[in-house]
Amino acid sequence: MTEDRYHAGPRRVGQVKEITSLANPIVKDIKALSQKKTRDETRTFMAEGLKLVIDAIELGWAIRTLVYAKSAKGKPLVEQIAARTIASGGLVLEVTEKVLSAITRRDNPQMVVGIFDQRWSALNDIHPKANETWVALDRVRDPGNLGTIIRTADAAGASGVILVGDCTDPFSMETVRATMGSLFAVPLIKTQADEFLRWKKGSGAQVVATHLAGAVDYRVIDYARRPVVLLMGNEQSGLPEDLARQADALARIPQTGRADSLNLAIATAVMLFEARRHLLSLDEAK
Ligand code: SAM
Repeated sequence: MTEDRYHAGPRRVGQVKEITSLANPIVKDIKALSQKKTRDETRTFMAEGLKLVIDAIELGWAIRTLVYAKSAKGKPLVEQIAARTIASGGLVLEVTEKVLSAITRRDNPQMVVGIFDQRWSALNDIHPKANETWVALDRVRDPGNLGTIIRTADAAGASGVILVGDCTDPFSMETVRATMGSLFAVPLIKTQADEFLRWKKGSGAQVVATHLAGAVDYRVIDYARRPVVLLMGNEQSGLPEDLARQADALARIPQTGRADSLNLAIATAVMLFEARRHLLSLDEAK
């Protein structure tokens, strides 16, 4: 790692660099963020689009590097976030569209990309309160599903998403894109099944697991009595026995037609809006 690279060591004094070459080592480092290994090592990730980057900074996310296309230079909002990035000790890169395409792996890239520190909450710091709904996902594999669930959790007013077991990375480019910015508003937790079950016992929440063999119609559950954790199963194999057995209720969404099951993100959306039906109204919608 050279001193110049965006994630190496402590924050440096902010600076603006112009980059035109794909062979530039900073560009190589940023491109490597498409790999989970690099995201894990650097604990950073990439978000595309001016609005997303502004929202993230407004919500207090730490920006490490701002990358913008030469053609975006001089735009007032771009200049503002560049100034904020520099003020917070980050790096600002002005690049060619060819470089932006390479970084984002897109033919028509967004004009602005931000590299942010990842943010995780700890399960033991989560103490669900009245009217809170949490989503717990068992081994979610599909990045699009996870992104859609984070976006839906945000829209339904859920308090956060708990990733149980070996889940797809919420900070992958595909998931970040699918969250449409909600990633920055929804707390994320990662845990293992045994730790989740231990936490559940002391949490005071009712865990409503969804299962194709669930005996309870999801519409008759009392979601107002205690805080709720909606537990959703893996796309291929559903919920494993050990998790399903310890849930407070096994809920099923009645289906008709030929489909065996609903898509995970769709099932989560149905559950979330039912569990929070008594808390959501058009009057309160922003
Ligand atoms: N073959 C899997 C199985 O046997 O469970 C299908 C899993 S389904 C695609 C993914 C998850 O969505 C399920 O584990 C469950 O959490 C939820 N789900 C989908 N359809 C559902 C339904 N009709 N009722 C309750 N949960 C459902």
